[in-house]
Amino acid sequence: MKQLSLPPHGAADVFFTCVNAVPDPLARANYIANHHHMVEAISAYSAASQEKTWCSLPRAAWGQADAIVVGSLSKSNLTDLYSSYMVPTSMAARATYDEIMVAANGKCPFCGGVGIVTTLDHYLPKSGFPLYSVLPANLVPCCKDCNTGKSSSFGVQPGQQPLHPYLDDPKFFNERWIYATVQNGNPIGLQYICAPPQTWQPVERERLLSHFIDYNLAYRYSVLAGAELAKVIDSRKGSLRNLSPEGFQAHLAEGAASQWFDVNGWNRTMYHALAHTPWFYNASFELPAPVPL
Ligand SMILES: [Zn+2]
Repeated sequence: MKQLSLPPHGAADVFFTCVNAVPDPLARANYIANHHHMVEAISAYSAASQEKTWCSLPRAAWGQADAIVVGSLSKSNLTDLYSSYMVPTSMAARATYDEIMVAANGKCPFCGGVGIVTTLDHYLPKSGFPLYSVLPANLVPCCKDCNTGKSSSFGVQPGQQPLHPYLDDPKFFNERWIYATVQNGNPIGLQYICAPPQTWQPVERERLLSHFIDYNLAYRYSVLAGAELAKVIDSRKGSLRNLSPEGFQAHLAEGAASQWFDVNGWNRTMYHALAHTPWFYNASFELPAPVPL
């Protein structure tokens, strides 16, 4: 999980850039007439961000594209701002879309870079929260798997909210809450678990577990770790074969301390687990004896 800086783009500026691209003058005037509702919605989002209670923001009814959400703006009026007047490459607001997307340097913040960024995700889905369709703080760079894997419904309880890469407590991104155990099978594998510090609030711990489950991190991490672990074992048999078990453990601990890996990333967590598993760093990993002819 990777924390990102809040996009610098002004919410009202982005709204008006999208609105100015609406070709029909009456439709455009309707957006402008409802501007004060948008300002109120933006400040409600800011207040919810302080309290980490995005789930309590007002929801639009399921479906019902023509239903009025606020003032004289329907759900489809609001979601069109994104899909018709921000996403298409011919639109002026597309520059904002692209700038928000590249700010992640390609690494999806939800899965800690398991996937590469290919799209923007609405932290609060636009189907349920159409007022935030083009709010920069609600648009997060995201990989395909994280975008399609999660449900389009957003939990109603605070503990069901996934991490917000812009607006959550930095401790979620800087302190360890994902661990792994090394499975002594054939092949050796990693099992990842979500284990936040007991000192964190119950609702925070619930949120981390929701995030871990919603983005399928145990499975996705273990797949990547399996391939990397095979390389680690090959190195132990080859270039690292003269290291003592303590030397091999120190080598693994270096990986666990690498500043290049996120603290809760699959790789740093893997090295942390390997460096804390005596049977692993003590193993000789001898090649099997040749079968006598
Ligand atoms: Zn992802």
